[in-house]
Amino acid sequence: MVIRYEKLQYQIDLQRLYDRKHELERLLASIPAEQQQLQEQFKAHTDNYHQQKEHHRQLLAEQHGAESDLSGYEAQLAKKQGQMHEVKTNKEYQTALHEIEVLKQKIAETEERILLAMERVTEQEARLAGLKKALDEEEALHKERLSFLEQKLAAARSELAHIDPDIAALEKTGSPDLLAAFHRLLRVRGRAVVPVDERTCGGCHATLTPNKIELVKYGQQIEYCDNCQRVLYWPDEARQAEGKAV
Ligand SMILES: [Zn+2]
Repeated sequence: MVIRYEKLQYQIDLQRLYDRKHELERLLASIPAEQQQLQEQFKAHTDNYHQQKEHHRQLLAEQHGAESDLSGYEAQLAKKQGQMHEVKTNKEYQTALHEIEVLKQKIAETEERILLAMERVTEQEARLAGLKKALDEEEALHKERLSFLEQKLAAARSELAHIDPDIAALEKTGSPDLLAAFHRLLRVRGRAVVPVDERTCGGCHATLTPNKIELVKYGQQIEYCDNCQRVLYWPDEARQAEGKAV
């Protein structure tokens, strides 16, 4: 019983090291994509802010253009009104009056344009202020997230660097036959040792017979899944839950 248990526990421990190693390798492979996604997301928001800023610049240019048009029309009007006393004929007088009316109309329209432009500029300034505030907050969060991922990456690298020596040390104490079988399963199935999972094999999920489950739970020898040949063990969680229920 003790020998069987030690042999099983040895394989469980070894499998746990390999599981952790594979988990860390997956983590190391996935973090760069996460970092890139964060960078792209933040860049999109920064780009949007700069586009809105450019739009503000255009609106301001429109406002200044309208203001400059207004000064021009006002100068033309003053000139035209100053020339009224030089008018000689009735026809000239009518023409001058008409031109003054047209200029006054243009001035009224331009004043409307200026008001509208000012309104748009004000609205855009409020939008920009909101975006800037959100962007500043996001930038702080963005830096935090990046630094968190950097730390995660560094921790995973450091842990992974220790796992291979741990595995080597543990494998030094195992029998060659057992290790050969273990590595064959690891190579072919990804995992060599799996827990029973809700009456199924934790590796291939084939349903286990009640007899097999009993053998795994209390058996005197190493039990294998009939379907995938992985070594089966009764999970500690299930053992603990059972202990509590009794
Ligand atoms: Zn199986």
